[in-house]
Amino acid sequence: MHGAFFRFEGQAMVIKPNEGPCYRCMFSEPPPPGSVPSCQEAGVLGALAGVIGLIQATETLKLILGIGEPLVGKLIIFNALEMGFRKVKVPKDKNCPICGENPAIKKLIDYELFCSARGKEEK
Ligand SMILES: [Zn+2]
Repeated sequence: MHGAFFRFEGQAMVIKPNEGPCYRCMFSEPPPPGSVPSCQEAGVLGALAGVIGLIQATETLKLILGIGEPLVGKLIIFNALEMGFRKVKVPKDKNCPICGENPAIKKLIDYELFCSARGKEEK
């Protein structure tokens, strides 16, 4: 399950292995470390987290119950300022290094080191 929010906009999508695109299909490369401001730096409308969380909870219940049409391969984007939703199709990438025809990435990297997240914290 993917869920994210930033300032006044949020998004969610179901990532179901072997059925739809994976996270790497959607975002082929992670942004360079330090290139994306955090919510602490750029701000986020607090209630937005609730909206996206409820979408994720609803999608999870639908998957457990086997009802409805899950957001597999469909990214839902919510804009709080316009108070509107829109849905964008996300295709599976046949060249995806995770779920494509010839996967090259088979294990996790040290993302804390990669993102330098630990380097900024004080203990
Ligand atoms: Zn993929």
